[in-house]
Amino acid sequence: MKLSEILSQADKPLISCEFFPPKTDKGEENLWNCLDELRSIDPAYISVTYGAGGTTQGRTKGIVTRIKEETGLSPVAHLTCVGASKGDLAELLAEYRAAGIQNILALRGDAPEGMDRFEAADGGFSYATDLIAFLRTQGDFSIACATYPEGHPESKGGVADDIRYLKMKQDNGADCAVTQYFFDNDAFFRFRDATEKAGVTIPIVPGIMPVGNFEQIVRFSNMCGATIPAWMHEQMEPIKGDLKAVQALGIELAVKQCRELLEADAPGLHFYTLNKSAATIAIRNQLVDLL
Ligand SMILES: Cc1cc2nc3c(=O)[nH]c(=O)nc-3n(C[C@H](O)[C@H](O)[C@H](O)COP(=O)(O)OP(=O)(O)OC[C@H]3O[C@@H](n4cnc5c(N)ncnc54)[C@H](O)[C@@H]3O)c2cc1C
Repeated sequence: MKLSEILSQADKPLISCEFFPPKTDKGEENLWNCLDELRSIDPAYISVTYGAGGTTQGRTKGIVTRIKEETGLSPVAHLTCVGASKGDLAELLAEYRAAGIQNILALRGDAPEGMDRFEAADGGFSYATDLIAFLRTQGDFSIACATYPEGHPESKGGVADDIRYLKMKQDNGADCAVTQYFFDNDAFFRFRDATEKAGVTIPIVPGIMPVGNFEQIVRFSNMCGATIPAWMHEQMEPIKGDLKAVQALGIELAVKQCRELLEADAPGLHFYTLNKSAATIAIRNQLVDLL
């Protein structure tokens, strides 16, 4: 089903789940098991990342196609500008059209490993805004985009830049936006208010990262610019060696965060699952009164 239809027909907030293409057979088996388990919480769509840093790009298409053909779930394929000319992108999009894949999460992407900054490929695009405009010329895709309530790490003008570019993504054809994960809901609420003032009307779905391994989340957050609030450090640091305790607290904190977001009319919750299903299911099952 197309993302635009899923969104317009929704009469309650939607749950969506993000996976990355596994690199091993065991990882692949785990992915299909997770998707099977997630059926119990009825996700509106499953999104599959596109080779962060330019790796594993080829696997996204195989996975979204199999999700569509074998699971009955609606897939969303992430797509970046990394290493691709317009022609390369047009070729891949033709393959998606032929496979009946209708939803794309359009991104610029990050610099591939070994490069210190993103550079557009020859004949390629420099920004997600351009990729979104191009996508609109390539068929009837429904398009999601990324946005950053705490600012993208490269945004020289801070969050104000991200608000301006989100409006541009909407104007170029994005149907909805998914945020980078954050732990401080006030940052999201401030961002949402500011985007409204700037004329953004598409749904902005908060990205939720259940903490399962605190040291890993600290590393991720340093790279992607998400702030870990002092209260989270205080609670997680003393238990960080005990993964079971971290996971339990991670779920408790995510339930609290999601509850507050839903009570403040968030249009949905997008879970960064890191290819695990248990935390997402546990969180969702503690929010049944709101979903
Ligand atoms: C929901 C979500 C999913 C993601 N999935 C993937 C994935 O599958 N694969 C992957 O490799 N990475 C993924 N990422 C990470 C993403 O690729 C990086 O954050 C990347 O650095 C920026 O991508 P973007 O599409 O947000 O870029 P853009 O929106 O293009 O922004 C990049 C930078 O350029 C600036 N900018 C934006 N538009 C313009 C413009 N028109 N003119 C001038 N400056 C501009 C912005 O302020 C920002 O600093 C994801 C991120 C999120 C939030």
